[in-house]
Amino acid sequence: MVVNEAITPMPPAAEDRSITMPGNVVLWSAVRLLPMPEIIEFSGTVLTSPDSEHHGMWAVDGKLTFIRPAGNPDIVLDGWVLPGLTDAHCHIGLGPAGEVPGHVAEAQALQDRNAGTLLVRDAGSPSDTRWLQHRRDMPRIIRSGRHVARTRRYLKNLALEVEPGDLAETVRKQARAGDGWVKLVGDWIDRDAGDLAPSFPAWALRDAVLAAHEEGARVTAHCFAEDTLDDMLDAGIDCIEHGTGLLPRHIPRFVEQGVALVPTLINIGTFPDIAERADVKFPVYAAHMRSLWTRRNERVLEAFEAGVRILAGTDAGTVIAHGRIVDEVLALNAAGLPAAAALDSAAWAARSWLGAEGVTEGASADVLVCAEDPRESLTTLKTLRSVVLRGELVRGELQPRE
Ligand SMILES: [Zn+2]
Repeated sequence: MVVNEAITPMPPAAEDRSITMPGNVVLWSAVRLLPMPEIIEFSGTVLTSPDSEHHGMWAVDGKLTFIRPAGNPDIVLDGWVLPGLTDAHCHIGLGPAGEVPGHVAEAQALQDRNAGTLLVRDAGSPSDTRWLQHRRDMPRIIRSGRHVARTRRYLKNLALEVEPGDLAETVRKQARAGDGWVKLVGDWIDRDAGDLAPSFPAWALRDAVLAAHEEGARVTAHCFAEDTLDDMLDAGIDCIEHGTGLLPRHIPRFVEQGVALVPTLINIGTFPDIAERADVKFPVYAAHMRSLWTRRNERVLEAFEAGVRILAGTDAGTVIAHGRIVDEVLALNAAGLPAAAALDSAAWAARSWLGAEGVTEGASADVLVCAEDPRESLTTLKTLRSVVLRGELVRGELQPRE
């Protein structure tokens, strides 16, 4: 990487914010510490899609361009360039006990950003995180508002808990409060039945999805169990979270209805622990969770091969730490998705599905630079060379001047 003297040496305040990474590489947040470079040149191969490469790209005043600018670059970043990653299931402003203070939400967002997540589809948060959307140094967040769950059928203090008769109206309000998405909790343990069970009757879901669509919002739902998916598909749902209960009968409907699947595999990895804790009181539920876990990879691969749109989401917020998007991409690859497809589920395809800009002329310069071709070596994403957000180098390895 070449750094021109315009941004070196570092101002003294930068030392306070430096982070020493494995291998003693010092990385830091350059936001508000360094003047924004007017021109960044990307000297390596630019991946404008999973199968198209371009040479010659610049960020000028925060926007990408393929036209060489008149002035010299302030910084030259060398390496493979791809869009900032997207975490399609992430909870900023949420912790294990519910709402978190602002400084914690900020730290979560920075952890995501520093791992390369520059776009988050928030999948429900008890905190109002709109203030983070005004911060130039924060990843872009598409908010879902609050989770909507059935009374006493979800984790405490997280969701708006309602009965079926109030579902549609609650969803309508959350559609207005969010940024185009509403999050339902489609199933959870029913303690009386001792097993997973759908949260709401089919009629209530139909009315709720209709209400959201009338407000111009899409609806996604947490679904673990098999039966929940039938009702969700009947209701016209737009996206399914986890989807561990996916069966062959559901797959053609996902494809025909254009329903996306966010498997959150690194979160599904916690099912054996959940089962172990439930064994004594709820043995049927525990066995169900174990069987869903056993077939998790097979189900994702079947869906992918049938043409279901798969998106990478970590479910960071309660038990999963923030900043793990690359682990989810690796998990999708381990489930059988080819490396380029696993990457696409967090990159170009994810952005286009959310209606966000990719790597195109005039788009906001929200890109990552890595040492190797990430389509061939996903692990190169673990050690990003640079993170550029809104045209600013928010994370980068600044070498001492020769
Ligand atoms: Zn979640």
